[in-house]
Amino acid sequence: MVEIIRHDLIIVGSGLAGLRAAVEAALISKGKLDIAVISKLQINRSHSVCAEGGTAAVLYTNEGDNFWAHAWDTVKGSDFLADQDAVVRFVFDCPKEIYRLEHWGMPWSRREDGRIAQRRFGGHSFPRATFAADKTGFFEMQTLWGVLQRFDNVTFYPEWFVTSLLIVDGEYRGMTAIDMYNGTFHVFTSKAAIWATGGGLRMYGFTTYSLSATGDGFAIPYRAGLPLQDMEFVQFHPTGLIPSGILITEGARGEGGYLRNNKGERFMEKYAPKFMELAPRDIVSRAMMTEINEGRGFEGPYGLKYVHLDLTHLGREKILDRLPLVREVAIKFAGIDPIDEPLPVRPVAHYPMGGIPTDIDAATEAKGLWAAGEVTSVSIHGANRLGTNSTAECLVFGKYAGANAANYAMKKDDFPEVPLDLVEKEEKRIFDGLMKRESGEDPYTIRRELRVVMDTYFHVFRDEKGMTEGLKKIRELKEKFSKARVADKSSFYNSDLFYTLELDHMLISSEVIAVGALARKESRGAHFRTDYPYRDDKNFLKHTLVYYSEEGPIIKYKPVKILFWKPVERKY
Ligand SMILES: Cc1cc2nc3c(=O)[nH]c(=O)nc-3n(C[C@H](O)[C@H](O)[C@H](O)COP(=O)(O)OP(=O)(O)OC[C@H]3O[C@@H](n4cnc5c(N)ncnc54)[C@H](O)[C@@H]3O)c2cc1C
Repeated sequence: MVEIIRHDLIIVGSGLAGLRAAVEAALISKGKLDIAVISKLQINRSHSVCAEGGTAAVLYTNEGDNFWAHAWDTVKGSDFLADQDAVVRFVFDCPKEIYRLEHWGMPWSRREDGRIAQRRFGGHSFPRATFAADKTGFFEMQTLWGVLQRFDNVTFYPEWFVTSLLIVDGEYRGMTAIDMYNGTFHVFTSKAAIWATGGGLRMYGFTTYSLSATGDGFAIPYRAGLPLQDMEFVQFHPTGLIPSGILITEGARGEGGYLRNNKGERFMEKYAPKFMELAPRDIVSRAMMTEINEGRGFEGPYGLKYVHLDLTHLGREKILDRLPLVREVAIKFAGIDPIDEPLPVRPVAHYPMGGIPTDIDAATEAKGLWAAGEVTSVSIHGANRLGTNSTAECLVFGKYAGANAANYAMKKDDFPEVPLDLVEKEEKRIFDGLMKRESGEDPYTIRRELRVVMDTYFHVFRDEKGMTEGLKKIRELKEKFSKARVADKSSFYNSDLFYTLELDHMLISSEVIAVGALARKESRGAHFRTDYPYRDDKNFLKHTLVYYSEEGPIIKYKPVKILFWKPVERKY
């Protein structure tokens, strides 16, 4: 008989969304709930610590900014695919989160007059990126972690890998997880749960993501029957540092950095004469790839052609004060000091706009399960996210998820019944399947090949021929994966096993990206097809929903919530 671990409320993921949800649940339940946070990483190693540039919020209405401008910028940035009810709730709640963090001890950077500083970011018509130097996510995580130390009813499970969600008849019943330390398999249940596992795009080779950001949180609920929404929209951030792909924050351009081609021209004047380097990311990335493809880039290592990000005119003092991490990273990983020389950069896989659909109260389609953060599509990002809206989204919708799940759990007397047949099936899949196989395909080779496929066919510019080829290759890799073998058979910290489980998740997300992208015969936001170069509102002003089936993904669509702004041409 398997032992079932019970908590009133379980939160999976300890990034900004998970920790914000945990704080809210702990605060409102006043010690009445037994809360658990599960994370495959040590709590503070979640990808959120990498957020550099800032968190969006309208703080200074007295100086010209306003909520409706933030909402409009977000909707226009999304290429009109954002749900406008979610966007409106979001913009009004962002400032509350900034001040709440401030009261909890967040060291926001300051202006000369002592008030909270803000800088410009791409696609925003007003400076509203609220930051702590260029280490914003790191300090936000530390602050929330600090608050959580006050509560003794929150239990942490660091380095526990969730492998499946148990959903029966549209109701959340629990989950299975492996204790990474000793390799033991466990079953959890709770009255309510929050899915805050982050996203990730490690299926790409040139990416800003931590090694751990493998999108497990997309594949696990998908396999359990929940849909994935708008996954074809993959954001390429304009400035990945050559050769590693490490992010150079948009804050560098927010502070006044220029992009130049090999002729020394600030080429953005051709593509976005008004916003220049601070146009939204989809537009800047396409401009950079056009410059590179037309021969105005520089030759880089590993075939990575690039353009220049020039910060030299900002001066030493500003770089040291506002962009210390950019400088540290550039010196360590490219051997270049941005005070003296321009940096080599190119578009880099950075953010999946899609995810598990939720309503504006952070509820998923499964009863008893809420979700928040990068793993979701609520949808405020639509076809293209504006920088700084993501950390803000984690805080705002993390709070709703925490409050609503906690209230639900407090009203519920009983735990749901755990479907033991699903538990057994999952245990067999991993321990009789993957772990017992003595010979078979090498997962590391499959992983390497997948990266090449995604970098080649699902990049900034896409077309039918390439994507069809790409999807075929993804399916061949999935087929190979069904015979994959985990070489290390030991129990303690078996990273070989977890890499393999993560690869499975990445193959699943890659297939969903591919089928959604092939079916969307238009160009919108980050999804640009050279064979369908225009937005087609008549046929495609709708969200893609992809459902799992044994035979392969099933595509459905659902309408976009348009309340205030009808689509117009997007000019910057
Ligand atoms: C380099 C970089 C810089 C960025 N800069 C900014 C910025 O300046 N401003 C901005 O707004 N956004 C930025 N973003 C985006 C933003 O940081 C993220 O979208 C956001 O922090 C994600 O938070 P999250 O809580 O949803 O997930 P994460 O912080 O990614 O946390 C995911 C959590 O889920 C857990 N988890 C995942 N899978 C499993 C599993 N199978 N079992 C158990 N636990 C699991 C992980 O352990 C982790 O705790 C940046 C992103 C990157 C990559």
